[in-house]
Amino acid sequence: MTAELFDSHCHLNLEPLNAACLEFIREAGSVGVKGFLVPGVHPDDWPGIRSLAGEISSVQAAYGIHPMHADRANDRVFEQLREYSCHGVAIGEIGLDPHCPVSLERQELAFREQLRIAVDSGLPVLVHCRQLFQQVLNILREEHAGHTGGIMHAFSGSLEMAREFIRLGFVISICGTVTWDNAVRPLQFARQLPLEHLVLETDAPDLTPQRYRGAFNRPAWLPECAVRVAELRGIPFDEVAVATTAVVRRVLRLESGTIF
Ligand SMILES: [Zn+2]
Repeated sequence: MTAELFDSHCHLNLEPLNAACLEFIREAGSVGVKGFLVPGVHPDDWPGIRSLAGEISSVQAAYGIHPMHADRANDRVFEQLREYSCHGVAIGEIGLDPHCPVSLERQELAFREQLRIAVDSGLPVLVHCRQLFQQVLNILREEHAGHTGGIMHAFSGSLEMAREFIRLGFVISICGTVTWDNAVRPLQFARQLPLEHLVLETDAPDLTPQRYRGAFNRPAWLPECAVRVAELRGIPFDEVAVATTAVVRRVLRLESGTIF
């Protein structure tokens, strides 16, 4: 039996995965992907994520507002997020993204408030960041997010920045981009960062591994990432699986008895 993998970021509640979400979970399970963290991107997603996690023990819930929807954030929504935070294992995905059609000012406001909610509730955060790595690092420091830590999802910063986030108490998530023919940075993370600071994710339905590019991504393709990381480090697949799953458990504070 091969060791179990944990998909630390997959949007099972969103199209097109939601139409056959149980099937995608079963398919993933058949290739050893036994745990799933489903992040929220919009307040309208939260009820669906909550019921999915309530129904399926291998699904863990996170709640948050993606920078893309930061203009939906207001006091009432933050209040709802505080309530939802009692039912999840993390706050996310939250952060800054200059490609999103919402002003960075609005994004930062939503990001900071959600970090405060996470710190108040003692929950780790799932950080979405493109380009603005130094800014995000500063905000995480200013909001004391190192107390709860979290995951730098689909991280695309430099190796030096990755080390800064690790120093603050975050782990780096490697996704399907590590399998892409033109990959550069993910290869450095896979080779050079200590395994105890790495997790794996698909970000399904996005970031499809090289072999399946053109199709939408699914959790059953997470082993593609683990195989690549194992190759790059020159270690067995099982060592990558055991280590990265243990890191997810540590970051999300899942008890070792948790079934997934
Ligand atoms: Zn995502």
